[in-house]
Amino acid sequence: MNGLMMSGKLLISSLIVHADRHHGDTEIVSRRVEGDIHRYTYRDCHRRARQLANVLTELGVKDGERVATLAWNGYRHLELYYAISGMGAVMHTINPRLHPEQVAYIANHAEDQYLFFDLTFLPTIKLMAAHCNTTKAFIAMTDRAHMPQDTGIDNLLCYEDLMDAASDDYSWPTFDEETASALCYTSGTTGNPKGVLYSHRSTLLHTYAAALPDTLNCSARDVILPVVPMFHVNAWGLPYVACMVGAKLVFPGAGMDGKSIHELLETEQVTLAAGVPTIWQGLLNYMETNDLKFSTMTRTVIGGSACPPAMLRKFQEVFGVHVLHAWGMTELSPLGTVCAFKSKLLKNSPEERYAVQAKQGRAVFGVDMKIVDEDGHELPWDGKSSGKLMVRGPWVVSHYYRSENEAELEMDADGHGWFPTGDIANIDADGYLQITDRDKDVIKSGGEWIGSIDLENIAMAHPAVFMAACIAVKHPKWDERPLLVV
Ligand code: AMP
Repeated sequence: MNGLMMSGKLLISSLIVHADRHHGDTEIVSRRVEGDIHRYTYRDCHRRARQLANVLTELGVKDGERVATLAWNGYRHLELYYAISGMGAVMHTINPRLHPEQVAYIANHAEDQYLFFDLTFLPTIKLMAAHCNTTKAFIAMTDRAHMPQDTGIDNLLCYEDLMDAASDDYSWPTFDEETASALCYTSGTTGNPKGVLYSHRSTLLHTYAAALPDTLNCSARDVILPVVPMFHVNAWGLPYVACMVGAKLVFPGAGMDGKSIHELLETEQVTLAAGVPTIWQGLLNYMETNDLKFSTMTRTVIGGSACPPAMLRKFQEVFGVHVLHAWGMTELSPLGTVCAFKSKLLKNSPEERYAVQAKQGRAVFGVDMKIVDEDGHELPWDGKSSGKLMVRGPWVVSHYYRSENEAELEMDADGHGWFPTGDIANIDADGYLQITDRDKDVIKSGGEWIGSIDLENIAMAHPAVFMAACIAVKHPKWDERPLLVV
């Protein structure tokens, strides 16, 4: 017997509709690549997202077609998030830090119809445009006054010109919540980048879970600054969470240095910021050198790579900012675990609590996890046994995009599929996960993976890069399958 409840669809458009209706005056503040600070509200954002949906319809974008972005965190990128997914097309965020050849490979693999880009990335577009086989036009995310001249790019359009010509009269369509909403390629695996294709349902469920008190603990009283890029797993879901709870959003644009970030944190009275350790290190260095404090920030989410214990202490003891250590991956939308205390741990000594916080935390409801040995047998949660970390849940990838024949999941005896994360971990009796290693050698750049290749292969294919990486990290034993962070 079915329940007798309404079956409203879980659609991304509902987030911006909600933010407009209930938090219409709440601000979205962006540092623009044009150099100034831009301010508007959720109401304005929703109006422009509707205009943009008309622009895309006029350009001929159809349901399920991919539209790409190569962009920083900013209000135009947010408009694209909601317009593309909201109209039933697929928002494809490309990582601009990749080599132009890889960007072209990804755009062709995804069969992107249009590519929107921030002016910073014009050099990449110039190099790759001629190699993009399916891309009908490249759209500079700027106004007429800032449009680049003599670029040599055929089909270069101006974002604000298109917007000026479009009406904001648009009704978001309703469709199956399993419909694809966004695509993000991971390069954290062997070989070519692989596409993770999120759905409206997976995104909405992830958004609910991300906002929970023991996850990112977000509310309408928050001012959220995602330093983590919108091209990397949807800025950990924060552009969706902020709409769901009605938090003010602050976007740093290209200003990733300590000075620019600190300035925004203070002027916009940010309460929660999220980023990778390398970015935070730059911020902390700048603050210490200039004897600065945070006046409103109370917590920060740190993930992407392990939060160094010294950083944890510095944030909490020197700056009074509580650290939420989180683990996730592109394949998990990305949240898997967050390190929030259980009440019994609050009685522990500060040193014991720091030891817990150095772990990656407990599974967010919706993510089921286990560790297994080489033969796939589950290992105990004793904080010592170390094994391959496997996960499953409604926002975990089941197959990579356009690799339908490739079985990604490992089946257990009950017929459940589990995604092998590639991470090696232990889990303690309270359910706190600790990542200890990768089962493949991984190279990270600025806290983000740039590749994961057997060391033998990379040493042979790119000996100079490999040696430079070894020297950069002063790694003494490169032949023992180390984890390289460059
Ligand atoms: P990506 O898909 O690029 O986000 O990379 C995901 C990978 O980053 C994971 O599989 C982990 O190996 C690593 N990672 C993410 N968060 C953490 C963390 N808090 N501590 C250690 N490794 C992490």
